Amino acid sequence: MKKYDVAIVGGGPIGGHVAKIIARDGYKVAIFEEHEHIGEPLKCAGLVTPRPLQLTNISEKLVVQNKIKGANIHSPSGNILTIGGNKTHAFVIHRPKFDREIINQSMEKGAEVFLENKIISAKKQNNHIELKTKQNNDISCSLLIGADGPFSKTRESFNLPRPVEFLNGIGAEITGTNLEPDFVEIFVGKNIAPGFFAWIIPTNEQGSEARMGLCVNQDAPHPPNYYFSNFLKNKNIKPYLKNMDIIRKTGGAVPLGSLRKTTESNVMLVGDAAAQVKPTSGGGIYTGLICANHCSSVALDALQKNDFGNKRLKKYHKLCNNEIGKEIKIGMKFRNIFKNLTDEQLDRYVIKFQESKITESISKYGDIDYPSKLAKPLLKNIPALIKFLPKIIRK
Ligand SMILES: Cc1cc2nc3c(=O)[nH]c(=O)nc-3n(C[C@H](O)[C@H](O)[C@H](O)COP(=O)(O)OP(=O)(O)OC[C@H]3O[C@@H](n4cnc5c(N)ncnc54)[C@H](O)[C@@H]3O)c2cc1C
Repeated sequence: MKKYDVAIVGGGPIGGHVAKIIARDGYKVAIFEEHEHIGEPLKCAGLVTPRPLQLTNISEKLVVQNKIKGANIHSPSGNILTIGGNKTHAFVIHRPKFDREIINQSMEKGAEVFLENKIISAKKQNNHIELKTKQNNDISCSLLIGADGPFSKTRESFNLPRPVEFLNGIGAEITGTNLEPDFVEIFVGKNIAPGFFAWIIPTNEQGSEARMGLCVNQDAPHPPNYYFSNFLKNKNIKPYLKNMDIIRKTGGAVPLGSLRKTTESNVMLVGDAAAQVKPTSGGGIYTGLICANHCSSVALDALQKNDFGNKRLKKYHKLCNNEIGKEIKIGMKFRNIFKNLTDEQLDRYVIKFQESKITESISKYGDIDYPSKLAKPLLKNIPALIKFLPKIIRK
């Protein structure tokens, strides 16, 4: 049986980041990844602010494919709200390269990476954890970190709570598009993406390649495929997809709603496994990395004290809650209102928000990582908006 101080399930960006920080201090760390290649299959649109690159120390040159200045939000009946446009608000990154770079960094610090090693069981034995892989490898560790994505085996094995809900996503990498190169196109509506939205994100500076996709509620009347086929036929997106070819299809689930508990004795969850995801956009790279920093600092404290009891580990849960808990909570409240809006209401909001005072405020104060921060300046500058904004913001 192989023995490690820390075993990490999942070779995604969040597991890799945790591994790097813990291995850097000389502890024996192993990452177990079920797939043959890091970063594949792709399950991401790759839109992030510059913060994840700063947090991981990855240079723009390595992973940034395009820079985004604004967004056109299309209402169900075709009205368009344009926001931003003044400066770079987000990067489009090459996700597989980003993931590989983080895993390489962890290996440089001494972490061992085992590909094609799917963890199929995890059990507590006395004061350590024993793991088994599908390939019949036995592993023992003092601390197990579940960074194994939305349907975490680690979470299930230790009866930790499930996310409040899952969005089902589908997407594609495409060529032959005719897009404004620095604008993202967002489409809302019950027949387009019930409970969420659809997107087209230009991935090159010519606007001729893109990632498109959509997510739907878990209780949507039809599977994501159905909405994707309809989306391709939608008359409002036709002008963007003139000579469109699908290179490859992507998919994936987005877990939403903070868990009540993310630790157990000898066990911690991080990233999508702990639903550390922004409910308004489905983005989990930045929030996951913030929590990965807290996860590794509490793990290092436990390793130094040789104490893996939940009393010590649960400090991590509190640290994450202090930093991103409020944003996720407000995001969930906002989402619960958004997902129940009718197409008529969505049309009305898009038209109302076209007022220049509103778009200027959004461009000035909007921050994809902290959407709730926009509410105050919006209401201060445009008090009349109060009757338009959903209940949560009025409170
Ligand atoms: C359609 C879609 C679009 C998205 N777009 C964006 C975006 O534009 N911006 C953004 O910030 N976020 C986006 N996200 C979310 C983002 O992809 C996740 O938040 C991010 O990948 C979380 O990283 P992670 O390391 O926690 O999990 P993952 O990236 O899911 O990594 C988990 C890893 O664990 C492995 N694994 C799982 N179970 C086992 C097991 N039993 N044994 C071994 N290995 C295992 C998996 O193979 C995987 O490699 C999107 C998600 C989806 C579905």
